[in-house]
Amino acid sequence: MENWDIIIIGAGSAGLSAGIYAVRSGLKTLVIDEKFAGGTIADASKVVNYPGFADISGGELAEKMTSHCRKVGATIHDLEPMIELQLLGEVKVVKTSRTSYEAKAVIISMGSHYKEIGVKGEAEFKGRGVSYCGVCDGPFFKGKKVLVVGGGNTACITTLYLAGLAAEVYVIHRREAFRAEESLVSDISAKSNVKVMWNTEIQEIKGNQQVQSVTLIDNITKKTSELAVDAVFVQIGEAPNSQLAKAAGVEVDEIGFIKVDVKQQTNLQGVFAAGDITDQPIKQVGTAVGQGIVAALEAYSYIKRPYYRK
Ligand SMILES: Cc1cc2nc3c(=O)[nH]c(=O)nc-3n(C[C@H](O)[C@H](O)[C@H](O)COP(=O)(O)OP(=O)(O)OC[C@H]3O[C@@H](n4cnc5c(N)ncnc54)[C@H](O)[C@@H]3O)c2cc1C
Repeated sequence: MENWDIIIIGAGSAGLSAGIYAVRSGLKTLVIDEKFAGGTIADASKVVNYPGFADISGGELAEKMTSHCRKVGATIHDLEPMIELQLLGEVKVVKTSRTSYEAKAVIISMGSHYKEIGVKGEAEFKGRGVSYCGVCDGPFFKGKKVLVVGGGNTACITTLYLAGLAAEVYVIHRREAFRAEESLVSDISAKSNVKVMWNTEIQEIKGNQQVQSVTLIDNITKKTSELAVDAVFVQIGEAPNSQLAKAAGVEVDEIGFIKVDVKQQTNLQGVFAAGDITDQPIKQVGTAVGQGIVAALEAYSYIKRPYYRK
């Protein structure tokens, strides 16, 4: 079985940053990813909020992070899904589709995925008006007409954020009340450019090169209507890719996000987590990078300084 000081599972912003810091700390470092390295940011057509890059495509940013990680000396295995973890002992075992590895410490950085609504046009217009991240894509729709789908805290926070940018914000929710904090709900009622449509669902997203309109259905009267919008923000929740970690004994919250402390340490010794898979509230490249750095340096201390474990 191959032995490594540290194995990082997931080569997105968090995992690649962790890789850079782990290698530079002198750790023999393996980073694995089930897809090509780079992570979710590769799906963003444009990134304008990562410091140092005023305007870069997500694909190029992902490529720059990956080549930086390789350049400092990390071994990156693309297209090698992790399929099982054994994390309870001093030696951690990472099983992949190809083989099994042993490591002194593990960083879990497998990200999360946004839940999709699954309607016609959603996949077609992804990145062309259909978005799952208000902070990421909201600024592209300044002064425009946008639609938010959802009724929980995230949908409400996104609505308030977009209300500060867009000319008009429509919110559709399939129930007749928000399932969100009272203060968020009252802040939304106070916004003159927000219109909430209860018991309403989306049937189709339409457009040409970009989103132009949606077909809505009132789920009580079954009446359909057309609404012209420039963007659809789907905010019906996120699902962390944490099932295999949970099965190995890593503690998660009620949604499935991995619980970490300020050192990115999980409930298991020598097991760290970073990025969108954790219970940290802000899910951005910048925060994933920061958490990856902390995880790598804390993992280094765990491996190299035995007194640290006490
Ligand atoms: C369309 C879109 C636009 C966005 N725009 C912005 C933006 O403009 N600015 C910004 O800051 N943020 C943006 N974000 C958010 C940003 O992409 C994430 O916050 C960031 O990528 C999180 O990094 P991560 O490393 O935690 O996870 P990810 O980047 O998701 O990386 C996780 C990696 O783990 C791998 N993985 C999962 N399961 C396994 C397994 N079993 N075995 C091996 N590998 C596995 C995945 O293949 C993936 O590569 C955007 C997100 C989306 C979807």
